Amino acid sequence: MSKFVAFKTMSEMPELPVSQARMSWNKTGSWRSSTPGHQGKLPPCNFNCPAGEDIRGYLDLMKKGKVSDAFKLLTKANPLPAVCGNVCYHPCQTNCNRHNFDTELQIRSVERLIGDWGIETGFRPTLPATGSKRVAVIGAGPAGLAAAHYLRQSGVNVVLYDENKKPGGILQYGIPSYRLDKDVLKAELDRVLDGVEFKGNLRLGSDFDLASLAEFDAIFLATGAHTSKRMYAEGEDLPGVESGLGFLKRVNSGESVQFEGKQVLVVGGGNTACDVARTAYRLGGSVTVAYRRTEHEMPAFAEEVEQMKTEPIDLEFLVAPFRLTPTTDGRLCVACHRMELGEPDDDGRRRPVVIDGADFDITVDVVFTAIGEDPDLSAAAGLDYDSSGSLDLSQVDPQLRDKLFIGGDILPQPRTVPHAVASGRLASEQINAFLQGVQVAKPSAVAEVATEEDVNFAYFTRLNAAQRASLSSGQGISSDKAAATDEANRCLSCGVCFECDNCYNFCPDLAVVRTPDGYQANLDYCKGCGICAKECPSGTLGMQGGRVA
Ligand SMILES: Cc1cc2nc3c(=O)[nH]c(=O)nc-3n(C[C@H](O)[C@H](O)[C@H](O)COP(=O)(O)OP(=O)(O)OC[C@H]3O[C@@H](n4cnc5c(N)ncnc54)[C@H](O)[C@@H]3O)c2cc1C
Ligand code: SF4
Ligand code: SF4
Ligand code: SF4
Repeated sequence: MSKFVAFKTMSEMPELPVSQARMSWNKTGSWRSSTPGHQGKLPPCNFNCPAGEDIRGYLDLMKKGKVSDAFKLLTKANPLPAVCGNVCYHPCQTNCNRHNFDTELQIRSVERLIGDWGIETGFRPTLPATGSKRVAVIGAGPAGLAAAHYLRQSGVNVVLYDENKKPGGILQYGIPSYRLDKDVLKAELDRVLDGVEFKGNLRLGSDFDLASLAEFDAIFLATGAHTSKRMYAEGEDLPGVESGLGFLKRVNSGESVQFEGKQVLVVGGGNTACDVARTAYRLGGSVTVAYRRTEHEMPAFAEEVEQMKTEPIDLEFLVAPFRLTPTTDGRLCVACHRMELGEPDDDGRRRPVVIDGADFDITVDVVFTAIGEDPDLSAAAGLDYDSSGSLDLSQVDPQLRDKLFIGGDILPQPRTVPHAVASGRLASEQINAFLQGVQVAKPSAVAEVATEEDVNFAYFTRLNAAQRASLSSGQGISSDKAAATDEANRCLSCGVCFECDNCYNFCPDLAVVRTPDGYQANLDYCKGCGICAKECPSGTLGMQGGRVA
């Protein structure tokens, strides 16, 4: 039986380690020089996801087996997780803090699995009833899809127009099906467009114009970048020369194309060039890619280039076609300059320079140009770019200008699916605010990012060599939920508390308390020793904004 003994003075106390005595008398006094606090740093995965997903948040839910909640959290920022889980260039995982410890988390694979869950279960978010507001969205690529989806989610009537029969934009008509399964795309589109009125085969500029949309309360223009740049080579309009994107659109529309026994030349070094070359190879062609710089300067995603290199496709660097002439047997003779790299140009990449006297010819059956695409603004009367490359709306009819919003590849921003999704979601927020006559909340100041130095790796187990090799193979994780949970369990939760209780258990002064708002130090008792921050695995805690060494 325990008995309560009261000591009137300190000298009456027996010699006891502090940890066995009551702590209530052990107040800090005025000498404390530092205090622990939440550093408020962002995980680098979240920070680097162009779509703005709370990756750390849904990995935490996956750890707990809450796939449905993970899906809901993910799709708050990105309604196309299965699509992005297949085709995004994953800057989230490239910047994961686990990279040097063993290998980065396979975030894109986990995102794909969460997206697949949404498809397999036929998940549909509850749709609110629509009010009186109507918005026209032009262009059903990822930007238009995201805007239409989130506007409909907030009770707005949305009509989505596209010149094509099917929605999806580049996802439908550009990216080949070996990279993005069309059934996956269809399933995701069905959910995203739930409650949205889609009107295909209608082209702005020919079937309707901006003025005809005046009855709408707002208009979102997201018609992408589809005009292939010219090579400025003599003979580039000859039969047998086609834009790479035009070719991909034909194949993705179901047209039967065969290149058996044909030599195909693809000119360019971006994503379109990779997709054209790999598609032409799959259709039986012997494919050569000619790029005027080196592999190092290729604008294509590195992963695309790596995958292309595993296929029997001939890559010719420092080569620039300048003249095409028809041969007597119906082929094309392509005269090329041999190039070398000179001084860096405006974008920092070294400029290709012609080597005199080193020209050579290649004879091929087909040439695809894939040196980039420009937006075509001519369909939207009055809209143009100014000399600095920014959009100029000054010539747009003032009645329309105020309610015209623009996003996706038309904007001077990186041309990727997650960037387009983010601009569509942002537009939906701006349009909603406009419809309600309120100001859009200003984005909060950019938070600091939690680095490797913030994480206490002693609390995490390194993968063995075999596990590391399997994950580094580029194949991602296997497609079952258990694999996703295992992967989520590797997350270091950089900068975000995951309730491990370390700070609570380690504090020698029992100064850490659990509150509904997280773990906090009771400053009456905290001595500022910094043990809590030092032993915080995730780097959530810091001392006076910094860590104690
Ligand atoms: C071949 C290729 C492969 C790519 N691969 C990847 C990849 O793997 N990963 C990645 O992240 N990004 C990739 N990208 C980039 C990415 O696809 C784009 O950045 C993204 O699709 C842009 O979205 P968007 O909604 O702005 O435009 P788009 O996807 O281009 O959609 C615009 C839609 O508007 C329609 N439209 C155009 N003009 C009109 C008009 N006048 N009237 C009506 N409709 C019109 C178009 O036909 C299209 O359907 C790739 C791009 C290309 C070209
Ligand atoms: S959209 Fe891209 S960057 Fe964002 S989580 Fe998915 S794979 Fe990563
Ligand atoms: S360890 Fe987790 S929280 Fe940290 S960067 Fe990687 S995925 Fe994000
Ligand atoms: S030590 Fe654990 S419980 Fe305490 S703040 Fe850090 S992560 Fe959260």
